Amino acid sequence: MLRIANLTGVFTGDGFVRKQGRRPTAEDCGFRSGPIDILCDPDRGTIVAVGPAVANPAAAKEDVLDGSGLFATAGFVDPHTHAIYAGTRADEHFRRWGGATYQEIAAAGGGIHRTVRAARAATDEALVESLNQRLDQMLAHGSTVVEVKSGYGGGAEGELRLLRLLRQVCEQRTAPVVTATFLGLHALPPGVGEEEHVDAMVALLPAVVAEGLADCVDAFPERGFFSLASAERFARAALACGLRVKAHADQLSDLGSTACFVGLGAVSVDHLERVSPEGVGALARSDTVAVLLPAASFYLGMAYPDARRLLDAGARVALATDFNPGSAPALDLQFAMLLAAAGLKMTAAEILCAVTYNGAAAVGMGDTHGALLPGRRANLALWETETVHGEPVGLVEELIVEERLPCVVVPGGRVVHRDARHEAMAPS
Ligand code: ZN
Repeated sequence: MLRIANLTGVFTGDGFVRKQGRRPTAEDCGFRSGPIDILCDPDRGTIVAVGPAVANPAAAKEDVLDGSGLFATAGFVDPHTHAIYAGTRADEHFRRWGGATYQEIAAAGGGIHRTVRAARAATDEALVESLNQRLDQMLAHGSTVVEVKSGYGGGAEGELRLLRLLRQVCEQRTAPVVTATFLGLHALPPGVGEEEHVDAMVALLPAVVAEGLADCVDAFPERGFFSLASAERFARAALACGLRVKAHADQLSDLGSTACFVGLGAVSVDHLERVSPEGVGALARSDTVAVLLPAASFYLGMAYPDARRLLDAGARVALATDFNPGSAPALDLQFAMLLAAAGLKMTAAEILCAVTYNGAAAVGMGDTHGALLPGRRANLALWETETVHGEPVGLVEELIVEERLPCVVVPGGRVVHRDARHEAMAPS
């Protein structure tokens, strides 16, 4: 057992769970004032109890981590990243900020196809190593579950390769937990027709399922990329294979992708910068999570999604980094949280819910992750605070506004990351 003892406070998120992540308020953060303990079972990876000096029901041997001066939240979940890739496109961002258009950058050899070429040229070892480094950094920023998409494979063989490397990383790592998504419809390989490409991606699905390479598929229906009909055909084929589906929906233009994918029972629809009122209504009436990616809007210099309209309608809203080299090259979810506050006008409670419980729901883990309650996954982040002992007001605001790093991260009830100041805080 691991006992995290004498915490200043705990945000359990019990109200997020009770309300299924809809219209989260400050009260729903479930703040419990300290001194308070969290008892974890590292063998099962679950929370046993939360409370003042809670008893150890099995009277099992305990490691104790001194949590005084710290408060706990659920570990973050980043439900949308493109973290397996090679190369950089940092120069393209400066060209775009300097006035170059996407077409000009693509004509000069930039854009998605540049990343596809770099991924194909990279060795397996280089792709795995760079992904592991990125995941280590994400963990240091508090992300205990991270979704990673394929999509830079440039065709069937390349996609299978990325998915197999992704599975290798999933199996080797304990934290963050990686969930793999097969992004079959990302960009059309040069010289290949749309129908032909969709056929090839549909034909891959049995192998993806048989090898356990992904539990979800994703598509990018957008003008100049794939039609909504193609995305729907791919998604229906994936559903028939028992996979979950999600989509990059209504980012650059309103194709009605949101309502279509909600109708398919998608686990999430992501982006939503141009979502229609019908799409918002469909989300509010469904369990599909709306995943917002404000860092992509920031880097691309485009309008933010209308988070308030979605939240006020009662949709379940999550936040993600969209981490990728071309439109969102920042891997910390805290940057997205800061933009959600300043740009999307989300409250601190809405943001905390978005990066914990609703993030978990967006990767199909809403029943088991995303809140600090007995029986749930013991994924925790511990934070220092300037706020007066035991006062809930301002704690979550503080970590968002200051982009504060967690000082200790505890995925699955095991301490695997702590900052330099807390290096000596080994369980005793
Ligand atoms: Zn994306």
